[in-house]
Amino acid sequence: MTAHATDADRLARALSSLRGLAVGDALGSQFFVPDNLAALHNGELPPGLWQWTDDTEMACSVVSVLVRCGRIDQDALAQSFAQHNDFDRGYGPAVGRMLRLVRQEGADWRELAAGLFNGQGSWGNGAAMRVAPLGAWYGGDPVQAAHQAEISAYTTHQHREAVAGAMAVAAAAALVADPAQPAPAPEALLGAVIELLPRSAVTAGLRRAQDMLDYDDVATVAAVLGCGRRTSAHDTVPFTLWAAARSQGDYERAFWTTARAGGDVDTTCAIVGGIVASRPGGEPPRTWAERTEALPEWAVPTATRNADPL
Ligand SMILES: [Mg+2]
Repeated sequence: MTAHATDADRLARALSSLRGLAVGDALGSQFFVPDNLAALHNGELPPGLWQWTDDTEMACSVVSVLVRCGRIDQDALAQSFAQHNDFDRGYGPAVGRMLRLVRQEGADWRELAAGLFNGQGSWGNGAAMRVAPLGAWYGGDPVQAAHQAEISAYTTHQHREAVAGAMAVAAAAALVADPAQPAPAPEALLGAVIELLPRSAVTAGLRRAQDMLDYDDVATVAAVLGCGRRTSAHDTVPFTLWAAARSQGDYERAFWTTARAGGDVDTTCAIVGGIVASRPGGEPPRTWAERTEALPEWAVPTATRNADPL
């Protein structure tokens, strides 16, 4: 395989994951519209166009930096987050304010990110929600995926749990996306992710998730693992990896399982959608993609835009 083909394959995997992430984010966020709830709980789709939120906007920056730099450059990533930060996309208040200060006043992201929450850094799920396409980019190399995810997390989320959550999502996507291997068995997938993480509440949650892979009652699993109600990494990532591991190759099943749990639905569905869509066969249905707001022009290389509804 030539280096050129490898780059094209990386990009194709990352964009497929990004599209899966955007559909999950956009459709998941429809659960916050009260008029849609009854239909959604019956498995019916609300009328389009579904707009994506901060999860997709930040994931677009991750992919665009990988395309430009070939790896995560923290300054380029922080600048892209700040430059493209749209107040109306539902950012968490602390990170949203930080990105506005970087953009409007030229503030130093290193100081601001380190200073959040009295110097502990944010443990929100925002570093995990945007990073599945990075894992897809590093498909087959979960060690590098986790390493680059760690670097990417620090631009906004410096608490150990947020960093571990981002590493977990990227490693999972890299394992699912591995073009040289069959889709990993769920238990092996979670086990391989745990091996790559620092000791954390995220890993404790992933061990519980591993124990519950044979549970079919999503409400019970979400009650034990959390489903993002506190918007923390450790209350979000174990559940999303549980859902993604069990529904590889079946985007619709993955989405509905995740969404019906409730919680931080745009983010849980963005993570699960991004992981499942990182492997051929796991893409969202075309009709779902067509009802999802297009990705921004700045995020997607021109040559790949025209062939696809996103
Ligand atoms: Mg969001």
